[in-house]
Amino acid sequence: MRELSGDLRHLSINSATARNQLTLPAFIEACARRGIPAIDPWRDQVHAVGLTQVARHVKDAGLALTGYCRGGFFPAVDAAGLRAALEDNRRAVDEAKALGASCLVLVAGALPGALCGTPAHRNIGLARTQVMDGIAATLDYARSLSVPLAIEPLHPMQAADRACINTLEQALDICDALDPSRSGALGVALDVYHTWWDPKLTAQIARAGRERLLAYHVCDWLVPTRDLVNDRGMMGDGIIELKKIRSLLERAGYAGYVEVEIFSQAWWTRPADELLDTCVARYQTVV
Ligand code: ZN
Repeated sequence: MRELSGDLRHLSINSATARNQLTLPAFIEACARRGIPAIDPWRDQVHAVGLTQVARHVKDAGLALTGYCRGGFFPAVDAAGLRAALEDNRRAVDEAKALGASCLVLVAGALPGALCGTPAHRNIGLARTQVMDGIAATLDYARSLSVPLAIEPLHPMQAADRACINTLEQALDICDALDPSRSGALGVALDVYHTWWDPKLTAQIARAGRERLLAYHVCDWLVPTRDLVNDRGMMGDGIIELKKIRSLLERAGYAGYVEVEIFSQAWWTRPADELLDTCVARYQTVV
């Protein structure tokens, strides 16, 4: 297992972690100043600044991009909606390419309209079929630009509104169906927040192997959890066996970055310096 305490060479931070405190340019500067070598920016934050400017800034700062958040949300109520989702995913691939991101993270989507509180239907099977079709339709394009697609399974508490892909096994089944040769064009983003509870986690990480493990996201699961989306914990403050899960990934061949991704109303109210310094300290001690 890799030793993380000595330096920050495997650390990445997701820009949403400090989205309330720092604009993307300020976040890039804050990470570069600390010697954090990689980030994962969100699309809306990139759009707010401009793709070209962000791409230049990232390059000038010498940062790697451990992903681009995010594509996906494939299901829709009609043909026009499905088409619009595919077009948007192609744009996301283009942007990931322009930024030099190592992958485009896919949050699959779920029941159309559910995210706004009005699901158009209850057919999660249909949503899953549309996700499969959407990934299949995006994969060839992404492959042509050498942008790997990383499916991120989300905790089942988000199956109705954000992602109907809810386990690592389910994500890997899609990968095997659409990319049987394990070419590297399709894999998973494994987030401990969504997967720590899974009784099949050990076996499925081994099944994924190096070719499918495209990104690794860490935070912690707080007890009690007060919000289904924005109450993630700082690493070490919850019950996730972080070192154990990382050891499983590394045993499977993962040698990439460890990306800190914390959506937290509590941390979003703290000073950015305190937040980032705590991320670094916990990365070096409990991850
Ligand atoms: Zn994640």
